[in-house]
Amino acid sequence: MSSALEQLLLPAECLVCHGLLGPARADDLVCPVCRSRWRPVRPPWCERCGQPEPHFGPCRLCREWPEALRVVRSGVWLDGGARAAVHALKYRGLPRIAADLAESLVRLLQRPAPGALLVPIPLGPARLKRRGYNQSDVLARALGRRWEVGVRSQLLVRVRDTPTQTALTPAARLANVAGAFALRTDDCGLRIGGEAGRQSAIRNPKPAIVLVDDVFTTGATLAEAARVLGEAGFSSITAVTFGRASIPDFT
Ligand SMILES: [Zn+2]
Ligand SMILES: [Zn+2]
Repeated sequence: MSSALEQLLLPAECLVCHGLLGPARADDLVCPVCRSRWRPVRPPWCERCGQPEPHFGPCRLCREWPEALRVVRSGVWLDGGARAAVHALKYRGLPRIAADLAESLVRLLQRPAPGALLVPIPLGPARLKRRGYNQSDVLARALGRRWEVGVRSQLLVRVRDTPTQTALTPAARLANVAGAFALRTDDCGLRIGGEAGRQSAIRNPKPAIVLVDDVFTTGATLAEAARVLGEAGFSSITAVTFGRASIPDFT
């Protein structure tokens, strides 16, 4: 549905609290009050994965990550209204909300270095068909417009659908997504990592990559995507997500 048509059919109300949006905000989907309740993820945190600092010893969350994945940051904690917003982005067929999410993200996160490329985490074909769009892709494009950074939605491809990752430990989640991604090269079609990646249409020096996903839970998906990119010779990989789910029983 086009944005103009959507506006005719949907009343201009906040999708979280259902309060009416003024005419000046008719393009938004979330009102300023609800947005102000989104709880930013703040330091102190692990400098690498952005998780609140562990009480004892080194961070357990990111120690298994591939070296290429340097820094991950999330905008807000995934509770209350932020969860509703992500739910709308994913399940209510409202990709337009990505602009709202991106607007709050650019205020909270550092702009990528010039020349960096945003790469959304791809969906598998079955999920993509069901949803009609990839929520991470829509978010990456909205961020790209705000940051004026290029987006490469075709660089990564999901070669198998992974079971939904509920109630899995960080290690189990890493195993669950192993082998889920491959690198697509512009000239040779689909190839799996390694040598094919080094011959990729993106020549050296490889640009810095910023992976984009809607939600961070343990980072397993980002780590696996970074591993594939790292094997293909991309050495500077960071990631941003809109939401961060708190992991119970994990400190
Ligand atoms: Zn609201
Ligand atoms: Zn960490």
